[in-house]
Amino acid sequence: MPQEPITELIHHAYLPPSGFESPAPGVHKASTVIFPDTAALRTRDWRRRDGYTYGLHTTPTRYLVEERIATLEGGRFCLLTPSGLAAVAVVDLALLAPGDEVLLPVNVYGPSRELARQELARWGIRHRLYDPMDAAALAAMIGPQTRLIWLEAPGSVTMEFPDLHGLVRVAREHGVTTALDNTWGAGVALRGFDLGIDIVMQALTKYPSGGGDVLMGSICTRDQALYERIKGTDMRLGYGVAGNDLELVLRSLPTLAVRYAAQDQTGRTLAQWLATQPQVARVLHPALPGSPGHEHWQETCSAAAGLFSVLFDGRLSQAQVHAFVDALKLFRIGYSWAGPMSLVVPYDLSVVRGPAQVQNGLQGHLVRFSMGLEAVADLQADLQQALQVFKAA
Ligand SMILES: *Cc1c(COP(=O)(O)O)cnc(C)c1O
Repeated sequence: MPQEPITELIHHAYLPPSGFESPAPGVHKASTVIFPDTAALRTRDWRRRDGYTYGLHTTPTRYLVEERIATLEGGRFCLLTPSGLAAVAVVDLALLAPGDEVLLPVNVYGPSRELARQELARWGIRHRLYDPMDAAALAAMIGPQTRLIWLEAPGSVTMEFPDLHGLVRVAREHGVTTALDNTWGAGVALRGFDLGIDIVMQALTKYPSGGGDVLMGSICTRDQALYERIKGTDMRLGYGVAGNDLELVLRSLPTLAVRYAAQDQTGRTLAQWLATQPQVARVLHPALPGSPGHEHWQETCSAAAGLFSVLFDGRLSQAQVHAFVDALKLFRIGYSWAGPMSLVVPYDLSVVRGPAQVQNGLQGHLVRFSMGLEAVADLQADLQQALQVFKAA
């Protein structure tokens, strides 16, 4: 049937010969998926790996990234979500119902706590905060309604490394499902399934992307029924991931381990150097002796993310600490981390933890640093020149 060229641009019959191979896998992008006939349309089942039904649910490119993240984390199944926070939300919504309770560590990633406080609460799902440094206290908190325990290692911002073995043992003794936010460990420093954790989630936004330009999350499990339950919730919520974003993550994954190691080395060098500066009261970096939970980090990890916090002397004013942050030139002010650019954020301890909650004796003005891939000598010189603001005051 002869057709107009504009129609040919849509229905062109030419297919390139197969057999092409390069280091980069081909990238598939789809909203709609084409079925060969109505029988296929009627019978395709999304639970089957070749059951492609709609771009929202999966594409071959998404399977590629899911397989690689599952391998990285040591899981059998992986589901990608449009952000790290969306991964937390999907796990919560898949596993919790009205009347249930979820337990979060007191140093949980702040938006995960707000999700529980503002959204889960409206669905009749209760949350309580536990001290991740005290497995016995967690055991005492678990009740008949406790369905899910989130773990995070180390805790966000204050960087305490929890007794993961103890916390997981307690959860298993009580038959409660555990989910680890493994964004810091990235599957490189820490593999949650080796510890007996049921669900391992990660913000791929951080290390696996590594570019500061993609938002994505992952949820891994070893249990098929658990995976299908979470995947079903994800599908009904209408979450998807974009082909362009998958392409960026695919390109970054091969360099994950070398970026992680480089940022780890920079982080330890600068954390140790900052600890010797007179205005610094304390450096919170799980790989540094004296940091909260350092011994638990030693038990569990071989490496650390390039991320740490510094407590400046409480006698300095907040304005002085902000002036220090503003004086930094290579460390740019911004959330997120694990990209090429070093970042810094001052946090108000009383806001991130709340005065009434466990603070593990932390005091002073907290500033979090995230290492980029710049030369370590340049980053140290930047810190050194910015520290001069304290002398001027
Ligand atoms: C960044 C982050 C998240 C959320 O990831 P987004 O992709 O930014 O939503 C979750 N947990 C931790 C520990 C994080 O650092």
